[in-house]
Amino acid sequence: MRVGIVGGGASGLAAALAAARRGAKVTLFERSPQLGRKVLASGGGRCNLGNARLDVERYHGGDAGFVRGVLSRFGLRESRRLFEELGLMLSQEADGRLFPRSSQARSVVGAFELALSRARVAVECACEVSAVRPGARGFAVETSKKGAVEAGERASPTASGKALAGGGAFEFDKVVLSCGGASYPQLGGGDRGYRLARSLGLAVVAPTPSLVPLVSKDPWVRKLQGIRVQAGLAVSAEGRTVAVSKGELLFTAYGLSGPAALDISRETARALSSRPSVDCSVDLFPEFSPSELRGLLRSRLGTLKPAGADDLLIGMLPDRVVEVFLGAHGHGPPQARGARLSPETAWPPGARPPQARAALLSPETALSLAQGLAGWKLAVCGTRSWDEAMVSAGGVELAQVCPETMESKALKGLHVTGELLDVDGDSGGYNLHFAWASGFLAGAACARR
Ligand SMILES: Cc1cc2nc3c(=O)[nH]c(=O)nc-3n(C[C@H](O)[C@H](O)[C@H](O)COP(=O)(O)OP(=O)(O)OC[C@H]3O[C@@H](n4cnc5c(N)ncnc54)[C@H](O)[C@@H]3O)c2cc1C
Repeated sequence: MRVGIVGGGASGLAAALAAARRGAKVTLFERSPQLGRKVLASGGGRCNLGNARLDVERYHGGDAGFVRGVLSRFGLRESRRLFEELGLMLSQEADGRLFPRSSQARSVVGAFELALSRARVAVECACEVSAVRPGARGFAVETSKKGAVEAGERASPTASGKALAGGGAFEFDKVVLSCGGASYPQLGGGDRGYRLARSLGLAVVAPTPSLVPLVSKDPWVRKLQGIRVQAGLAVSAEGRTVAVSKGELLFTAYGLSGPAALDISRETARALSSRPSVDCSVDLFPEFSPSELRGLLRSRLGTLKPAGADDLLIGMLPDRVVEVFLGAHGHGPPQARGARLSPETAWPPGARPPQARAALLSPETALSLAQGLAGWKLAVCGTRSWDEAMVSAGGVELAQVCPETMESKALKGLHVTGELLDVDGDSGGYNLHFAWASGFLAGAACARR
């Protein structure tokens, strides 16, 4: 059985290994000089390769039943076995995220490279597949060799080095499209996979950026630039909630990032495709219900007897967040506490001096603070570009593919894996898990007659 794999990213690596270990003669084509470039960049270079809390709910796309079918055949147990066989020890974080114990993404790619060379997979790097056609014996694959290895890029050690001057033509019994999605063009993302899929008769759901930071022009967001908080987010359009998330939120110069923002970006991007902006509500105390937060502030009012709102909130949030929050909610700047005041929130000329604010905070003020803290409103007017989108939503329609084998229902012998399919996961290792899982199932199926 001769198998051609198009794309040497996460799912292509898993597909190549699974097929070769089952006796297939495998050739892996990768247009970049280096295998697994996104894997190398993943998890900030640490590679968040899976999640112990694997759950179909963490995936989005055309069909939850399809994802359930994939995860039931290649779940946590199977991924742990794959990594064990590769010699990779894992470490687990409190939220379930799995990393290689080395904390180095390059050990993941390195382990695959070693295993591929032992399984005698022919690796053609810097080699782009320009066309795949159903042929006399399965499929004809045309390639075009990219020139020299780009400056500063290391060629994969497994690459065959065989010159394919001007490209070459190959014949395979089966072909796996593992070309990834449109995100991060600087790491190999693009529309090549969608084009190849369409040329073979597969319908593609238009890709949109996902796990991408959100843009907001609200001035207070910029004032919080660089600050991370735990938050709950809810995005709504025309009064209807379209997405909610909970987790770390990072304020940036342009808007919102961090897992909590990234996880709602898919629905936000879709909602923004038909309107100029959507509403986002930030809950700065997602661990409390609204009534618990009210109760907490009321009790602090009694015990702390604060003169100002900033005293009431002391120790509950970073000082800077309190300053900006109070400014944004018309509570005026915090009381002068020397170094705690920043130039933007210092008393404006002619305003009452701080000593004049000695009156105790009223219960009504505490109540309105609680409301604001649980639902700080801002307008989101866009997402960052494909250059910053970690994954692509959309892709090859799932109804055309078998979840057991990733094989096209219409064109036998053609398999599709990973991000090229209409499946995208939340942040936290879910996307790489789906890539390993779909790649493994496709590779294993390819080796069968
Ligand atoms: C910066 C960043 C960080 C990320 N961090 C994480 C993380 O920590 N955890 C997580 O779960 N997910 C993470 N992701 C997402 C994850 O990396 C992807 O979902 C996953 O790599 C998808 O695997 P894939 O095999 O489908 O595609 P890819 O890994 O993108 O691989 C596709 C490969 O195919 C090649 N290719 C395309 N067309 C052709 C062609 N015609 N001929 C030859 N080669 C071709 C491309 O060059 C590419 O190397 C991250 C993504 C990015 C961009």
